[in-house]
Amino acid sequence: MKKQGILTIISGFSGVGKGTIVSRLLEKHPQDYCLSISATTRAPREGEADGVNYFFVSKSDFETMIREDRLLEYAQYVNNYYGTPKDFVLEKLGQGIHVILEIEMQGAKKIKEQYPETLMLFVAPPKAQDLKERLIGRGTESSEQISSRLARAAEEAVYMKDYEYIVVNDEVERAVDEIHQIITNEQDRVVRRGDFIRELSQELKELN
Ligand code: 5GP
Repeated sequence: MKKQGILTIISGFSGVGKGTIVSRLLEKHPQDYCLSISATTRAPREGEADGVNYFFVSKSDFETMIREDRLLEYAQYVNNYYGTPKDFVLEKLGQGIHVILEIEMQGAKKIKEQYPETLMLFVAPPKAQDLKERLIGRGTESSEQISSRLARAAEEAVYMKDYEYIVVNDEVERAVDEIHQIITNEQDRVVRRGDFIRELSQELKELN
């Protein structure tokens, strides 16, 4: 039987380096992973392209997607909508490809409720100060935006406990390899569990 891909949520505070980790994971294992591209109403940043980083849509288009049930989940984050298109994700999982969702915590919770088999990973900085320095160093947000993202991180810290794994981004390559190992182990576990359940159920039927 074809192995199903693992639906994997990767969350983490803004500025923690999730984007870099995820790109590297895809670069290292292009056959095994794909990234779900979210829709958002936020404006593109310098260097971001439509259909690559996000599908950049208007508020009214986003609301149409909500009404037509074309999103697996959506959330509001600092005055904008963000959501995960449904069809793409389900199709790739069926092809045995792991789908990575790089989403924030409200959305993660909704997905986990709907699809309990979702693997939840949280990328954390070694220290809070590293986060502040990274946000400043990235140079893509104003100082007010940095302050709201840091304030949001402080609120979001309570959600870390809901994640099955916390991966510390001390070094990108190491964090990427750790994540790959976690997802591969999870897929093996799901397959073994499924096989065991099927075999034992069959044996029990035959006994009766
Ligand atoms: P950014 O504006 O920095 O690209 O993203 C802001 C936050 O929105 C990040 O925490 C990011 O993970 C989250 N995000 C991106 N796409 C989605 C999505 O489809 N759904 C949800 N719930 N959050 C998302």
